[in-house]
Amino acid sequence: MTKYIFVTGGVVSSVGKGITTAALGRLLINRGYKVMALKIDPYINVDAGTMNPFQHGEVFVTNDGAETDLDLGHYERFLGIELTRHSNFTSGAVYSEVIAKERRGEYLGQTVQLIPHITDEIKRRIYQLARESGADILITEIGGTIGDFETPPFVWAIRDIGREVGRENVLYIHVSLIAYLSWGEPKTKPTQHSVRALQELGIQPDILICRTRKPLTEELRRKISIFCGVPLEGVIESRDTDIVYEIPLIYEKQGLADLVIRKLNLKNNPPKLDEWREMVEKLKNPKHHVTVAIVGKYTKGSDAYISVQEALKHGGIANDTGVKIKWVDSESLPRRRDLRKVFAGVDGILVPGGFGHRGIEGMILAVKYARENKIPFLGLCLGMQCMVIEFARNVAGLKGANSTEFDPNTPHPVIDLMPEQRGIIDKGGTMRLGLYPCILDRNSKAFEAYKQPIILERHRHRYEFNNDYREILSSKGLKLCGLSPGGELVEMVELEDHPWMIGVQFHPEFRSKPLDPHPLFRAFVKAMLEYKNRKGQGERR
Ligand code: GLN
Repeated sequence: MTKYIFVTGGVVSSVGKGITTAALGRLLINRGYKVMALKIDPYINVDAGTMNPFQHGEVFVTNDGAETDLDLGHYERFLGIELTRHSNFTSGAVYSEVIAKERRGEYLGQTVQLIPHITDEIKRRIYQLARESGADILITEIGGTIGDFETPPFVWAIRDIGREVGRENVLYIHVSLIAYLSWGEPKTKPTQHSVRALQELGIQPDILICRTRKPLTEELRRKISIFCGVPLEGVIESRDTDIVYEIPLIYEKQGLADLVIRKLNLKNNPPKLDEWREMVEKLKNPKHHVTVAIVGKYTKGSDAYISVQEALKHGGIANDTGVKIKWVDSESLPRRRDLRKVFAGVDGILVPGGFGHRGIEGMILAVKYARENKIPFLGLCLGMQCMVIEFARNVAGLKGANSTEFDPNTPHPVIDLMPEQRGIIDKGGTMRLGLYPCILDRNSKAFEAYKQPIILERHRHRYEFNNDYREILSSKGLKLCGLSPGGELVEMVELEDHPWMIGVQFHPEFRSKPLDPHPLFRAFVKAMLEYKNRKGQGERR
């Protein structure tokens, strides 16, 4: 039988529920339990696929091609598992399902209402994931903040689950923020209010995770415990840290997992955390350092490229190397007079995925700079498309080459819509999505990185390499080093005359994990280290 943990959040959004869920999951896995994770998003969008990355952060893609909330990325990285579309649903998905059922007449004339029909559909999805995953423990995170207009149906649903499966099988964790006044005085009132709002919806939290800038004093913990009705041992400090992978260790020290295990009447197996600890140690004290420029239209402060940032860290762990990111705004790049200055001290350049023409010419300039200066380069999806465009224009002499996404009238559409994509009007869930195989050329840097001939990677794009240009571009030195199994689609390209310049039509960043760094990111960081050493020798000479 599955045990259920529900994680809610209070006071502000981005309080850290996703990382809390992922970190707790890691501690339970290390005690030998099978853990599954679920994110529920109360917004009306049917999925995250149509949401603006600047507002909402990256759209994460699962193996089965769901466009999901970025928290699923945290779950996969911390838990070391791969999730399916059943690990994320929204109000929009729940309502669509209920309305479709109503139209089919399945409610047999009943009045269809928030309670019980919407709440039943929410519970059905939670129970189904528990059953089908065969998890010992299912951790469900409720997105948004308690007190939002959209959250009550979800809170009622998880309250009901507590009643239906027995309170001893369910645990409620509330993540809240300790506020600080400008002169540094801590305030617990916002936390008290958010717990009260949760209680009004019928839930008394068992554990309170307090996100805080400074250590929580004993006095503060006592106060929170008394006012929120949570036992003192259940008031956990969650101090801000730059190293998210350290958070499981911080919780472990405070006995969070022991408490959870005890409350759920589970056997407390000794935790095996050595491998995780070692990884965190490597991350904190790397032997080497490199700097990579990420050239995209979203820069510092947004979560638009969070899986890319994490995958770079993982590649760093594999090479005992700290990877520093330099954010370069692609939109303003064409106006910068001296690219040498922009890329000074940079050991590699990465152009990530994206949509729309804004910033494209800057990305193409960055590709050119990497090619001409023999700087290691990794192009992801749109980044690969920019690499092809740059090569077509500046090496193969195809003037005005472009993707039809950015210039529908280009004389050389080296990147073009796939035939299946023509005529599609709906934007949601209609791209080439999810896991596809790719066959590697054995005589390539790509193969050297993966060390295997067939790979599986996740996709999310509408446009593809145009096969009409295969011959001319490859004859000029663009190696088509990865193809779909039937050879129809170009999935990977690399430059022959360059130490390490690879573009991939897929998103390798989604499959990288701290305990299992992705081969391409490993190889990219290694290439950056080698470049840095070469550069150092050159300077000394
Ligand atoms: N906009 C490009 C396409 O649709 C690239 C997408 C991406 O980078 N994810 O093909």
